[in-house]
Amino acid sequence: MQNPLIGYYQNGNYVVKFYSNGTKIKQTNEDKFIAKFPDSIDLKITDYCDKNCPMCHEKSSILGLHGDLNEEFLKTLKRGTELAIGGGNPLSHPNLEKFLKEMKARGVICSLTVNGDHLIADNEHIEALIKDKLIYGLGISIQKYNQKVIDFAQKYQNAVLHLINGVFTDFNKLFDKNLKILILGYKKFGKGEQFFSNEVENNMLYLKNNISTFFNRFNVVSFDNLALSQLHIKNLLSKEEYESIFMGDDGDSSMYIDLVKKQFAKSSTSVERYPLGKDIFEMFSKINNNK
Ligand code: SF4
Repeated sequence: MQNPLIGYYQNGNYVVKFYSNGTKIKQTNEDKFIAKFPDSIDLKITDYCDKNCPMCHEKSSILGLHGDLNEEFLKTLKRGTELAIGGGNPLSHPNLEKFLKEMKARGVICSLTVNGDHLIADNEHIEALIKDKLIYGLGISIQKYNQKVIDFAQKYQNAVLHLINGVFTDFNKLFDKNLKILILGYKKFGKGEQFFSNEVENNMLYLKNNISTFFNRFNVVSFDNLALSQLHIKNLLSKEEYESIFMGDDGDSSMYIDLVKKQFAKSSTSVERYPLGKDIFEMFSKINNNK
């Protein structure tokens, strides 16, 4: 049975279809997708986090502040926009639930990315958010194999394990468990700059050399743009296969917004950042590659 369509809209010269299982399809009759507004936004809502991970590119900590979820541009988000909400620990934001309800009422499709330990500690809260359809996707970051996280991920079709290239190495323990994984590129940014080592580099090399053998061991294997380039995924697929899965460069139809520092950019590792504006169209036009 086909998954229900939960989003359908025109953006510039293409049409976007978004299905309840997280599948997104973009179609155009032209050579290139030219967006007028972002299809997807990586939204940081807090810098508070108690995990103190040594490679945290956001440098989140227990001293981190929460962002303002009433910024004016949020009212200009288009119906169907995907909002990938993260932090810090987004579950620590006191206004998270109210915000998710407002976004749902606007037709914005929210997903949440949480650390595996926070998921286990707060699993009833997360299950309630999923049940109330306040979030569609759930990204779960793990650095090591964790059976409780795997059990949770197997229960929800839209749960995706987020694994950092060079940091997560327990891949074989995840094989053949009907899991969806997203491999994130290693960010030499924030604390990630200092954490980078020969060990990380060797782990990255191992993954680059073995990633093609993982494809059929998971339900879905996906990559962010940084991981696509670090793992040379283009070399493993035909031109047609690659073009059919590639969603565009950062800034083609996606952007990063930091509500704590009140800045936006093409991606979370961009050095060039701008102060928040009042309208998402204006903000996007500043970083859009096709302007
Ligand atoms: S990587 Fe994630 S879980 Fe770890 S300190 Fe940073 S925000 Fe917290």
